Amino acid sequence: MTFDEERTLDNEFVMHTYGRSPVEFVSGSGMKLVDASGREYLDFLAGIGVCCLGHGHPAVVGAVEAQTEALMHVSNYFYIEHRGEVAALLSKLANDDLTGASALVDAFASGDGAAVLAAAKTAEGEQAWQTFFSNSGAEANECSMKLARLYAKRCGNGGNTIVCLRGGFHGRTLETLAATMQNRLQDTFRPLPGGFVACTPNDVDELREIFRQLGGEICAVMLEPIQGESGVHPLDAAFVQEAAHLVHEAGGVLISDEVQAGLFRTGKPFAIQLFDVVPDIMSLAKGIAGGVPAGACVARAEVAAAYKPGDHGSTFGGSCLAVAAAEATLSELVRGKYADHADQVGTYMAEQLAALPHVVEVRGAGLMLGCDLDEAAGDAHDVVAKALEAGAVINATGAHTLRFLPPLICTKDDVDELIEIMRSVL
Ligand SMILES: *Cc1c(COP(=O)(O)O)cnc(C)c1O
Repeated sequence: MTFDEERTLDNEFVMHTYGRSPVEFVSGSGMKLVDASGREYLDFLAGIGVCCLGHGHPAVVGAVEAQTEALMHVSNYFYIEHRGEVAALLSKLANDDLTGASALVDAFASGDGAAVLAAAKTAEGEQAWQTFFSNSGAEANECSMKLARLYAKRCGNGGNTIVCLRGGFHGRTLETLAATMQNRLQDTFRPLPGGFVACTPNDVDELREIFRQLGGEICAVMLEPIQGESGVHPLDAAFVQEAAHLVHEAGGVLISDEVQAGLFRTGKPFAIQLFDVVPDIMSLAKGIAGGVPAGACVARAEVAAAYKPGDHGSTFGGSCLAVAAAEATLSELVRGKYADHADQVGTYMAEQLAALPHVVEVRGAGLMLGCDLDEAAGDAHDVVAKALEAGAVINATGAHTLRFLPPLICTKDDVDELIEIMRSVL
């Protein structure tokens, strides 16, 4: 079908929850996407931070092909390959233990089960973490919030209130929408589930006041270390540290929503590690399986133990296909030292963006970058449209803010190519 035919069909039969850009992508390779007319584009959005190894990476494609042929899905009633491996690897990464993660990935490749078990073992003085697999970020957060409430009920202070930050984003289900403190997204859908309280990001006084008033009713603080959808706003380290302190003092848990910032994008396995804070629960999705839908809730084993059989579930979560893709993706990210790579290329990219005309501020960490444009630049959505015409896929989170979430395979040459396009567009 032609692009116009495809567009006609989509417009007529697909719900209009998105305003789509006027392009149909049909294939991709590395940093490049190809449209229906054969034209190439440089991809600095990566399917909203999903395709972390770019398009068509052989490690991901190979794992998906092999797993699809072997076995696609059997449900969580059974043991399968790769599920335990991915969870063990996430435990190493949750401890920011890249040496241990690397040894574990080598053990996977050796095919020696005893070596895998030895490498997976939680080292002396380290935490053990356990994972629940979901299909998306919203579902990962659902699992995290349910776990926080359950832990409070079974082992903690019995509270059920979750403190969330204004401008945050946690998903589109009713519960995650209730946690997403943005009127723009919430208003049409009220009444929303209760048990949520809003705090202004980085306002330590307001946070302290919330704890003074609600104290033991609070079972969790949930935050994005770097708010993504609001326009890439990193939290202050002091605020995150105080949130951890206050919530632990009250007997609750800290949930870090790492769906966008997590898994090496910011130069660390998990973005909250930039702030020297160890949370109790972390939510993952987007890049975790290199493009295959998957999510995960990763919790300190002591907290995770609150879940008993029957408390939570998912038909598709942690399917054979998803965990095979996740193991291949995460192994490649560890092997290729993509944390350091994201840090280095991201630092370079931030400098280059800051030197562009009309750019007034660049924020973020690693390869999660946002930049604010001045009034004269016009609407950022128009800038995105012009960039697309000029051959680059980027994104706007607001009228004056551009967002970049490129694949982590992005090189300085790719950045240079993007900067040239952006210079002409701006
Ligand atoms: C994208 C995102 C979500 C929601 O993930 P879905 O897979 O769309 O449900 C949740 N939290 C953050 C921080 C996100 O960026």
